[in-house]
This record gives sequence, C-alpha cells and structure tokens, in this order.
Amino acid sequence: MKTRPLNSQPPGFEEFQRQMQEFLRQNFKSGGPGFTPPPPPPSGASSSGHTPPPEPKTASAEDFKFEYRPREVKEHLDRFVIKQEEAKKVLGVALCDHYHHVQQALQGRGSHTYAKQNVLLLGPTGVGKTYLIRSIAELIGVPFVKADATKFSETGYVGGDAEDLVRDLLRQANNDVVRAQYGIIYIDEIDKITGSHTGQGRDVSGRGVQTNLLKLMEETEVPARAPNDIAGQIQAMMDITQRGKPAPATINTRHVLFVVSGAFGGLEEIVRRRLRESAIGFSPRYEKTLSDEQLLEQAATRDFIDYGFEPEFIGRLPVRVWCHPLEVDDLFEILKTSEGSIIRQYENSFAAYNIDVLFQDDGLRRIAEIASEEKTGARGLMTVCERVFRQLKFELPSTPVRQFSVTRELVDNPDAALRRLIAEQAEAERSVLSGLVAEFATRFEEQHGLKLNFAPAAVEWLVAESARTSRSVRDLCAVRFKDFQFGLRLIEQNTGRKEFDIDERVARKPEKTLSEWVVASYRGNPEAETPQSSIETPPDEPERTALA
Ligand code: ADP
Repeated sequence: MKTRPLNSQPPGFEEFQRQMQEFLRQNFKSGGPGFTPPPPPPSGASSSGHTPPPEPKTASAEDFKFEYRPREVKEHLDRFVIKQEEAKKVLGVALCDHYHHVQQALQGRGSHTYAKQNVLLLGPTGVGKTYLIRSIAELIGVPFVKADATKFSETGYVGGDAEDLVRDLLRQANNDVVRAQYGIIYIDEIDKITGSHTGQGRDVSGRGVQTNLLKLMEETEVPARAPNDIAGQIQAMMDITQRGKPAPATINTRHVLFVVSGAFGGLEEIVRRRLRESAIGFSPRYEKTLSDEQLLEQAATRDFIDYGFEPEFIGRLPVRVWCHPLEVDDLFEILKTSEGSIIRQYENSFAAYNIDVLFQDDGLRRIAEIASEEKTGARGLMTVCERVFRQLKFELPSTPVRQFSVTRELVDNPDAALRRLIAEQAEAERSVLSGLVAEFATRFEEQHGLKLNFAPAAVEWLVAESARTSRSVRDLCAVRFKDFQFGLRLIEQNTGRKEFDIDERVARKPEKTLSEWVVASYRGNPEAETPQSSIETPPDEPERTALA
C-alpha cells in the first residue's frame, strides 16, 4: 500500500475503502473478497462504539403485536413495583397509547398529528422509576436502554455521542432495525443538564445536550454505525465487499419512546415562588402547609423552564409522572411481596449450598428500618442485606448448618448470630450423638439383661473420640464394649450386681477396667461390690484399644 505524505488531506470514504481492500489483500491470505469478518461482539459488549456490531437486519412490521390495556399493564407492574400507584396508572395509559399508535403506524394507519407520549419521571433515587419502565419494556417485549444524562456533554458523551443510545437500542434488539425503532430510551439524572436554578445563569453545555436529545426525541435518522467508529466503518466496507451493498444503514427515531427522570432538587422552591406570586386563590397560610413533595406535584411547564429546561425540550415530555419516597412499610412490602424481591436472591444463593433460609417478618422489618435510614430508597435494601449476609454467606456453606431464620437479632448482629448458629449446630449434633450412646446402653440391656449407666463425662469423651477417629458413635461403642457382657456376667455371678457405672476412665480403658472389676469380684473386694473406677487416669493418656 502506498503511503501518503504527512499533512495531506485524509482520504475520502471511497479512497479509504480502496486502500483498505488493498491492505487486506496484501496482509491476509484470504483478504479482500471473501475475507472472513471478525466475530460479532458478545452480548452486553461495551456500547462505546469501538466494537463493530453484526450486520443489521430488518423484521417485518407485522411482527409487532400490541394488545394490552392500561389496567393489564398496571396489574403486571403491581407484581413487581410496590406503591407508586398513580405512576403505574399514568404510565399504563401513556405506554398503551404510544404502542397502539406504533402498531397503527407500522401497519400504515398512523396519524401524522399524533404527539409522542415521552415521559418525565420525577422522584428521589431508588423508588422504582427505572424499574417501572424496565418492567413495562419486558412486558411488551421492546428493547430498552438506560443512560445517565451526566455522561453527556454538548459535543457528545464519554465514548461516543447521544446517538450511541439509539445504536445501543439496535444492539438490544439483536440488530433488528424495526424493533430498535420502537424501543425505549431511558435517561436518568436529566435534572443535571440544566443550570439556571443555581442562580448562575443557564448552563451552556446543558443547553447543548438538551438540543442534541431533542433532535432524537423529535425524529432523526441515526446511522447504524458511528461515523467515528473506524472498526465499524471497516465492517461496513466489508459488507459492501462481500454482498455488493451495504447493510441497512439508519435507525429512525420517530417511534422511539423517551423516558427521562430526575430528583429535581430545588424545583419545589420554584413552584413555591410561583404559587406565592400568583396571588389569586393562594394564601400564604396554605402555601406553608404544603410539603416539598406536594409542591413538586404542582410543578408546571413554566417551573421546569425556570429550572433550566428549554421550552422545546420540556414541551416534548408531555407525560409527567411523580414517584414517591418509600417509607419503612413500603420497603418491608418490597422485601416481603415484590416478585423481584432481593430476598429471593439470598434464598437461591444459600439453596445452592443446601441451606434453607427462613425470613421472619421481624427480620425483614428490621432490614427495612435500617435501609430507610440510608435514604437511597429500595437501593438501601441491597446495601443492608449485603452487610447482614456477608459473613453468613462466607462461613455457613463450610459448616454443617443447613437452615437458619433471619430474625431481628440476626439483622442487628449477624456475627453473633453466626457464632450462635455454629454453636447450636454443634450442640444439636452432640445431643444426637449422646442419644446414640444411650441407645447402645438400651440395646445392651435388652440383649444381656445388664444395665450400663454412662456418666456425662464418658458420653462426652466418646462423642469427641468419634469425631477424632472419624468413626460413628455406634461403631465406637460396639467396638469398645465388645464382649463386655462376658466379664460383667461373671461379676453378676460373684456379686449379684446387674448395674454398672461407665465413667470416663471405663470409656477410655474398657478392657483394663473390666479385668480389674472381675478380679475384685472374685476377691470379694468391697470395691467390686460397686464397680466404679476410682483410679485416676491422665486425660490425654494415649489409648490402645485392646478389644478393638
Ligand atoms: P430509580 O428510582 O433510581 O430509578 P430503580 O428503579 O433503579 O430506582 O430501583 C432500584 C432497585 O430497587 C430496583 O431494581 C428494584 O429492585 C428496587 N425497587 C425500587 N423501587 C421499588 C418499588 N417501588 N417496588 C419494588 N422494588 C423497588
């Protein structure tokens, strides 16, 4: 390939294409026509526009069917989103209107005078704004992308420009241009691209961003491949080389639904001022009784303009929806009844280790109380749960604990609860194992008519010995006291005794003690009358199990 002198003009597209073909031919065996394009990016790949998207395709317009009614949309949302009743109704109506219109337009019956139902969602963080829209998008089966307005600048946003949002829709729609054209674009923190309410005059870059977004919200053709995306351009060139024509190149935004959201801190003051200034029907006493939230709900187009929005921009957002802060009761409901409740995640991750978790109401309420203090809405629930379950998730899978209850105490002090669970489990195990020693004694009596009274210290030693030797308690007793009945029967004959106390020493040295007892019983030794081990044995004396 010829090199061009420095400082000359960059080549035009045709020339660039020709040079690239030349380059591919020279550098790759199979370059040029028939050259295998790189594999498509994995799903969820970066949206920065550096990875060439696979070839766009078009679906038939008849593929899109929309048959929902507002009430059905709300009922679907009720399963996942707690509270926000009014928002669910308004969104149900707006989205049904929008998609009925899209369906008619796709069938060539659309009205040209239809005003798109773009949505402005107001409310603090973590109260379900995104969740509402995402859930609707899933219900209807349309592609959904979310971005943050703070990432934008007048000249684009980090990694690309506002049009990348539309290209992201295409990716979400599996490169189906028709589906991408009726997707939903959600832009959060829209209140951050205004500036006038700060009293420093309107923010110039915010205004530029609004203009860029406005273009998308109205109608524009967005190239399926970003112009500054060299890899994408190479891909486009290869499309032409391989198929003689480029893939469908643009996405029209006429039917893309835009939802923008923000907390709009400070807007209540603007509303208050307007209400105060419009004297008619509004007394200062009444104004004082209004909470910030009630003031926000009265926000009118003029207030948004005073806040820093361009009139055209706010004019393109006819549907205004308020989402309310979540109280402790709401957070509790989210945990307990929402189908998307985070506690399902915890149940599942513990279930992977065969551990059953039972969430008690007092535990859930405590999580809700602590989360509410975080002031991040339902997001606080995740933070609190992560903190509460961190150690339990790490430790429990490696312990024999197979179930536990999430109570208020556990939420308040998960570390202490973890220690207690492990101790309780050990205790429960000990009691089962002690039961096995008692069962051995019962069977022994049934079979031989001789009673063995195991002292607690003997039981404890046997249980510990069973753990140390990885031998079951049943086995251990059977082995240690094997043939014990013969010795004991001799003693019975000599002394008439039928009951024998088994203390720790007997458990440790059964054979030795038994022979001492037998000898003593022949001698008429008074000690033999009550066979009890009185000889001190060092606790750690290594044991040789003669009978084993
Ligand atoms: P934002 O209002 O900031 O957009 P999100 O909708 O992203 O907040 O909420 C974050 C997460 O919190 C959601 O994914 C969801 O799990 C949970 N959540 C928030 N609000 C609600 C709600 N009202 N009902 C049920 N879950 C909620």
